[in-house]
Amino acid sequence: MQVMSVTGPVDAANLGRVLVHEHITIDLPGQELDPSYAPDIPEIVARSVDQLQKLRDLGVGAIVDPCPVELGRDPELYAEVSEKSGVKIIFATGFYMEAMGIPFYWRARDADEIAEFYLSEIHDGVGSTGLKPGIIKAATGLDATPLERRVLAAAAKAQAQSGVAIITHTENSRHGDVQQAVFAENGGDPSRIMIGHQDEQKSAAPIAALAANGTFVGIDRVGLESLASDDHRADIVAELIRGGHRENLCLSQDCMCGSKAAKVPFAISTGVKLTVEQFIGNMKPMTHVLTDFADKLRERGVTDDDLEVIFRDNPRRLLTGAE
Ligand SMILES: [Zn+2]
Repeated sequence: MQVMSVTGPVDAANLGRVLVHEHITIDLPGQELDPSYAPDIPEIVARSVDQLQKLRDLGVGAIVDPCPVELGRDPELYAEVSEKSGVKIIFATGFYMEAMGIPFYWRARDADEIAEFYLSEIHDGVGSTGLKPGIIKAATGLDATPLERRVLAAAAKAQAQSGVAIITHTENSRHGDVQQAVFAENGGDPSRIMIGHQDEQKSAAPIAALAANGTFVGIDRVGLESLASDDHRADIVAELIRGGHRENLCLSQDCMCGSKAAKVPFAISTGVKLTVEQFIGNMKPMTHVLTDFADKLRERGVTDDDLEVIFRDNPRRLLTGAE
């Protein structure tokens, strides 16, 4: 059993610990029009390699960068970072949510046509690079719109034909149940799907309900305290484990190593004007989930055995289908 990484297939046994949702960069359409746009690629590579080497020292053999197609996905950059850091990078095909993605041409396509595009990338690689995605990204926004449901259907159809895992974005932790239902209707395999971003749920119950349907669930924005506190996340993770959902749980951070943008690419609600440097610098290091957050879990009775299942076994099963 293998998963495709940007530098080629990786055997399930060689993955090590895996963080299932991290980013090298996220880049928004239009940022290149800013007169001050002048990305320092060597600097982004250096920062990324530094972060990944620190992960490697903690037993991480691979990360998934589920950047959707239209948010600056850059396989050649990932390949360089992977080769220099020694950590495998698994990247995605697949569109984002309607509010921030899905190029207009593709809004006019049906689910089969979108699936055909995803499959062409999975089998032949991205454009002329030859670099192949190893997962499919799927997303819903606040409302799970008809267009988003069509794109979810495409992801499931492409999964059914390729055997590639699906990793999702949910907005405010909503509509994981809709995602599961659309995937199921279109031939998706729940055991190879992770419903992401459940960090903003107020309690463990709705996450447990998703896990009970057989998919993985992601508490995958650890450290982003503006969305939820890590203490709240740790309480929920401990409760999910006590409730018998350990085998369906993935932890990650949704971190960014760097940004090509001249200015902070996301609206920041605090109204404070940050430079890109400050924005990136304010994020927790990518090791945070394995160090400080793991300690919070241990304080709540989570064992090292539990953590190995979550960081090693679950991503392996999600990404490769191996037991
Ligand atoms: Zn993300």
